Amino acid sequence: MAKNNCKYIFVVGGVISGVGKGVTSSSLGLILKNRGLSVTAIKIDPYINVDAGTMNPTEHGEVFVLGDKDETDQDMGNYERFLDINLTRVNYMTTGRVYQTVIEKERNLEYKGKCVQVVPHIPMEIVSRIKKAGSDANADVVIIEVGGTVGEYENILYLEAARMLKIENPHDVIFVMVSYLPTPSKVGEMKTKPTQHASRLLNGSGIQADILIARADTPLDEKRKEKLSMFCNIPVDRIISAPDVESIYDVPINFEKEKLSERLCDLLGVVCKKVDEKNWDKWKTFVKKVHNSKDTVKIAMIGKYFETGDFVLSDAYLSVIEAVKYSSYMQNKKPIISWINSADLEKNPAKIKELKKYDGIVVPGGFGARGVEGKIKAIKFARENKIPYFGLCYGMQLLVIEYARNVLGLKDATTREIDPNSKNLVVDVMESQKELLDKNIYGGSMRLGNYTAVLGKKTIAENAYGKTEIVERHRHRYEVNNFYVENLEKKGLVFSGKSKDGNLMEIAELPKSKHPFFLGTQFHPEFLARPLTPHPLFTAFIKACVSKK
Ligand code: GLN
Repeated sequence: MAKNNCKYIFVVGGVISGVGKGVTSSSLGLILKNRGLSVTAIKIDPYINVDAGTMNPTEHGEVFVLGDKDETDQDMGNYERFLDINLTRVNYMTTGRVYQTVIEKERNLEYKGKCVQVVPHIPMEIVSRIKKAGSDANADVVIIEVGGTVGEYENILYLEAARMLKIENPHDVIFVMVSYLPTPSKVGEMKTKPTQHASRLLNGSGIQADILIARADTPLDEKRKEKLSMFCNIPVDRIISAPDVESIYDVPINFEKEKLSERLCDLLGVVCKKVDEKNWDKWKTFVKKVHNSKDTVKIAMIGKYFETGDFVLSDAYLSVIEAVKYSSYMQNKKPIISWINSADLEKNPAKIKELKKYDGIVVPGGFGARGVEGKIKAIKFARENKIPYFGLCYGMQLLVIEYARNVLGLKDATTREIDPNSKNLVVDVMESQKELLDKNIYGGSMRLGNYTAVLGKKTIAENAYGKTEIVERHRHRYEVNNFYVENLEKKGLVFSGKSKDGNLMEIAELPKSKHPFFLGTQFHPEFLARPLTPHPLFTAFIKACVSKK
């Protein structure tokens, strides 16, 4: 059962998407947490996919993996980072997931012979999931971000669920609309009309917004606030100006300038305790570093998800970027990340030499053959020129392949993912995975989520973590092939992280005596990096980059 007094905040979008509902939801959570409330968050993605794992990152952005294996939306990463909590699959909902459950329940006779209908059974399932997320986290407040914008066909059943929850608990549910106010260049004036329409669309679903977050290039003036208040039916002091900011981490601070946590507590009928200054100060100190770090550290990020479609490239690697930032700011350094298309490195050797101008090189996660040879060339260059190198997942597998080819002398070393016919599959697939692939079972079937690794004594990894056992999140199908491990180790590569039974290679590195930082992880450390607690391996990497400088 959810706490008797559990409160729910729905965050919905007006006018256009992509103007910061996720950051708004995360920021609302943070300012409420500062008031002593325990907060959890849910992301609703209204598409039919059961999870984000089967979606192309150029279309949907990064797949954010949770400890319990769920493959989710990048906004989940923002919630975890802002709120410093670990979420689970109850915190992520898609239409596919909701329907799947309802159909399973019907097959199991759980509706006791009733005719099962889109309304009310789908919204009822949505409501029960929302309540479960609240009770699992023992939360005072659940923030529910509804993806997309009001008026979209896909949104209707979620808004219906929200309305039903409000009818059942009239004093426990509030609505926040994040809307956009354009300033057309030829008109030169900020326009409120699209937001007025969005507000009416929301009303058409039986919902009245309690708070309006007005996103715009610039702050809202009083006139605009009054207009919106009048036509959207919201008191002026609940129209919150949210202009563009330099960093997303400014947003909670700006919200508090408008006393938003007090207004939220008022509306929710909860006591607004004094701000927990200790935590808040830490946040403000972090944000100061974001603004004041001037000395740069230059990182080359080598990837292939460049052709953007609806998404910008950086969305595909969002957590990696944030992880680099946290460890850089911690050292008062401003990271400058350059995107290098791995395919360009393949055709043009001069481009490889240009890598010299960077303080460090990262090859993040990836799939498939395209651009791989370029990445391997970059890794070789980093190794031979002692440029700090950090490989994440695919970046670790390619590190091992590069070493096998150029140090062990296995010229055709590769991964089954690229060439299953090669004689030297230094990276291969486990038997259990082979069966899944043979049956075309792709969804949710990789090695996912938390796994423990044991670290080798006196290695860079152990030194960075300051402990010998770690738990990190995974998302991959292939593994380093144990057949080659002994020979690779003889040639100086150190597998400094292994599964407890010693069968899975989790970290590969070169000792500090040979290279300042040449390390790859089979897992994704970026998913555990948080603004106030940067990830130890990213921190060790950035330190090496700074020293190289
Ligand atoms: N393509 C590799 C695998 O599936 C690496 C995956 C990744 O980088 N996330 O094993």
